[in-house]
Amino acid sequence: MNRKNLFGLTLAELKTELAPLPKFRAKQIAAHIYKHGMKTFDEMNDLPKNLRAELSTRYEIKIAELLKRLDSRDKLTTKFLLGLSDGAAVEVVLMRHDYGNSVCISSQVGCQMGCRFCASTLKGLERNLTAAEMLGEIFFAEEFLRGDGQKLDSVVIMGTGEPLMNYDELIKMLRLLHEDYCLGMSYRKITISTCGIVPAIKKLRDEKIPVTLSISLHVPDDKLRSALMPINSAFGLKSLLAAGDDYAQATGRRVTYEYILLGGVNDTEEHARRLAKILSGQLANVNLIPFNPVDERNFLPPTNNAVKKFFHFLNTHGIGATIRKEMGADVNAACGQLRAKIIAS
Ligand code: SF4
Repeated sequence: MNRKNLFGLTLAELKTELAPLPKFRAKQIAAHIYKHGMKTFDEMNDLPKNLRAELSTRYEIKIAELLKRLDSRDKLTTKFLLGLSDGAAVEVVLMRHDYGNSVCISSQVGCQMGCRFCASTLKGLERNLTAAEMLGEIFFAEEFLRGDGQKLDSVVIMGTGEPLMNYDELIKMLRLLHEDYCLGMSYRKITISTCGIVPAIKKLRDEKIPVTLSISLHVPDDKLRSALMPINSAFGLKSLLAAGDDYAQATGRRVTYEYILLGGVNDTEEHARRLAKILSGQLANVNLIPFNPVDERNFLPPTNNAVKKFFHFLNTHGIGATIRKEMGADVNAACGQLRAKIIAS
């Protein structure tokens, strides 16, 4: 008999699922699953033995299965390829920064957004991940860290997929992650990255969950942005920047604009000037990401000099900018690369 997976259910859903058991049993089981990381009912020794046996016949508690693990030489980045129940695979990247441990998770299997510099979109979208599967990615990383005597400090939803194209499951997962009976993670420790789904940014603003919004901007003019990121043809820069500003004003959270520097494409002083101009007066900062070459895409990394000049220009023209520290290049940390390689092999 197929057993139903309880992992990923909210407390309210557990109460309904486990009825007519008393509601306090659902609370106990939620704590065991989410707080104590238990995977079997046998471990739940505050439940009567016969109840544990009965639950085991009807239910399971399952997160993803590890298919492959790669550690960077400096041990700061660990990449996992996780297998899901239908045979799909997703990438999860754990990064150990000076300021804490962060996990980058995927929100979809593949991606339909077609950004020209990205390996994740090469085969299009296979399917959305469920809230339980996304939470499972986070729990996998959290349990891995716990085994090392460490803890997870923040979550970024910046891996494969466009999270705002999987909106309902994303919001369900975020609310569950924030619950005290789950990991109790502060919304301020969560970052959602989008390529610019403007109506969904507006919807997110009204959810009253003040996560950090990160917008993959990458190009400061419509023509080139539309050529590199097809989403720009639907929602151009003017509406995207207005939605970003509106989000920042409504939540009081500074919006991060991601800017991937592609050698000879968008890394000149003129691009920096335009970027500074369009972000002028916004509650925003820019995260510069020197392109990490991927075999599947024909772009070059910027020169060190171009990166420095771009960075300097922004910071001397009123735009706070940082350069993303390169992490895990030796474990294919750019999104989609490990999965693409494993699938192709
Ligand atoms: S960069 Fe993000 S949104 Fe764009 S194709 Fe890749 S995964 Fe999709």
